Amino acid sequence: MRLVLLGPPGSGKGTQGARISARHGIPTISTGQLFDRQISAGTPLGQRAERYVRAGELVPDEIVLDMVADRLAAGVDCAEGFLFDGFPRTYPQAEALDRMLAASCGPLDAVIDLDVDVDEVLARIRRRAHTEDRLDDAEDTARRRMAVFAAETAPLRRYYQQAGLLHTIEGAGDPDEVAARIGQTLAAIAHPQLHLGS
Ligand code: AMP
Repeated sequence: MRLVLLGPPGSGKGTQGARISARHGIPTISTGQLFDRQISAGTPLGQRAERYVRAGELVPDEIVLDMVADRLAAGVDCAEGFLFDGFPRTYPQAEALDRMLAASCGPLDAVIDLDVDVDEVLARIRRRAHTEDRLDDAEDTARRRMAVFAAETAPLRRYYQQAGLLHTIEGAGDPDEVAARIGQTLAAIAHPQLHLGS
């Protein structure tokens, strides 16, 4: 399946993305992780991206799109599929992804939109700041990332709704329950004939 995982910072994309990958045997392509690696390795791309990541700002589209095009060119199995985590985050990125896929694998199957309340998300990010050493989990940076999500990324829900691809999943609560909700949705997409009327 060719999937996008959408949702604000701290909504559980990393956790749920790993589960979807394992369950469906598809790779996760996380642009946040790719940037993290490039920054740690001190590559030219990492150097261009670092100040944006540190500030909780979006890395400019052209840098993101070059990196994603390189990742796709490095090899994906179109039939098996993949899961994008944290990409696309802007309209130009979404449109570019459509073009890249039209020229290679074919269209997305679904966009999973993890819906979590802002206060819940900030509480999760605060907890994560204690347990993970992320560049961007300081309180003010986390708030900035939330504001950026609301302004730049949340409008993509409409883009994907119009394309008939959006599946909004309640992201609050136990990760096992969230995973079960996602599993049901993906099963219905993969085997629509078994889920008529549900
Ligand atoms: P994430 O781990 O997905 O929350 O990403 C961490 C940071 O990497 C973001 O706050 C951005 O600075 C940068 N980033 C990741 N993906 C993108 C993207 N698709 N567009 C722009 N910036 C991104």
